[in-house]
Amino acid sequence: MSKFLHTKYSSLTPYDTSGEVESMKGYIRLNTNESPFPPSPLAVEYSHRASIGLNYYCDPECSQLAAKIAEMYSLKPSQIVFGNGSDEILNFLFMAFCEKGAAFPNITYSFYKILAKFHGVDCVTVPLKGFRVDPSYYRDMRGRTIFIANPNAPTSLAMSLSDIEAVITSNPASLVVVDEAYVDFGADSAVTLLPKYDSLVITRTFSKSRSLAGARLGWCMTSEELAADIRNIKNTLTPYNINAMTQAAGLGALEDEEYTRRNIDMIRRVRDNTRTRLQEMGFEVLDSSANFLFAKHGSISGEKIFSSLKKYKIMIRHFSNPPAIADYNRITIGTPEQMQMFLEVVKGITENETE
Ligand code: PMP
Repeated sequence: MSKFLHTKYSSLTPYDTSGEVESMKGYIRLNTNESPFPPSPLAVEYSHRASIGLNYYCDPECSQLAAKIAEMYSLKPSQIVFGNGSDEILNFLFMAFCEKGAAFPNITYSFYKILAKFHGVDCVTVPLKGFRVDPSYYRDMRGRTIFIANPNAPTSLAMSLSDIEAVITSNPASLVVVDEAYVDFGADSAVTLLPKYDSLVITRTFSKSRSLAGARLGWCMTSEELAADIRNIKNTLTPYNINAMTQAAGLGALEDEEYTRRNIDMIRRVRDNTRTRLQEMGFEVLDSSANFLFAKHGSISGEKIFSSLKKYKIMIRHFSNPPAIADYNRITIGTPEQMQMFLEVVKGITENETE
């Protein structure tokens, strides 16, 4: 820490990005929940074309993207705000709406806690019930903003729309944020609830089903009033937050829904097959609605599975904390070939360890 750093930043806990980029060359990356498939050719073509106009600033409102998404979900463009990844949207939400605090499950996307701490937001973590989010635990949140990832990460479990609605109706004084980063892989979107509730914000990303994690593009959908608040913060801090190439890539991806649909179908098929194979090898695997699995072996520790796979240059995600999940690993679904290789190595590990 330099002597010039503001003391309020002296004990930051940044998001752990270790091993996510360059050092992973040559590895099978099943650790960061990206798509194993390249972006749609249309996304690449549009983005390339947009690069020719990079001498000009980009559209701060992402008007074309907003129009397209509004049409897809029967909303008005003014109900949509874009972020540099949905992480940036989450940051805006913690800044904008958490004066009375925040609440989220005790096992969920780790960024919520990091953002709460950064913004000095008082947060309560709500226990899961058998790894599921139970709406009855979300009563009387006293105006705290509630963050729920659906499907949840790292558990991969989805919540029903009626359960989401129960959280909203039992907390009339709270804003409810539903983080739908993985919704395309099997959960029901709360977008149908938007006309009914003006206390609902839905966040989405192009990082998973649309293969654009490196482009950094996310968005939120909410009431016009809340969207105006979020936009105000965005335009104060980072008015040009989505660069022109990314806007163009996003548009290309949205215009190639067929490509996205095929990739989602493939990932779901490979996911379900991988789950069955892991169960046959003695793993307990939660019922995934996402592009990853959450699994623990009956007798081999999570750490052992993780480190043994790493020796074969296969990365999965191990969490040593909280202790309740230390025996689980989160496994991103890769291509059929990658998962075949993964399963063969896991088979070897389980046979060696249980001999
Ligand atoms: N929400 C959840 C639950 C996630 O797992 C992630 C990805 N790490 C994000 C949001 C953020 O994704 P991005 O910023 O790439 O849109």
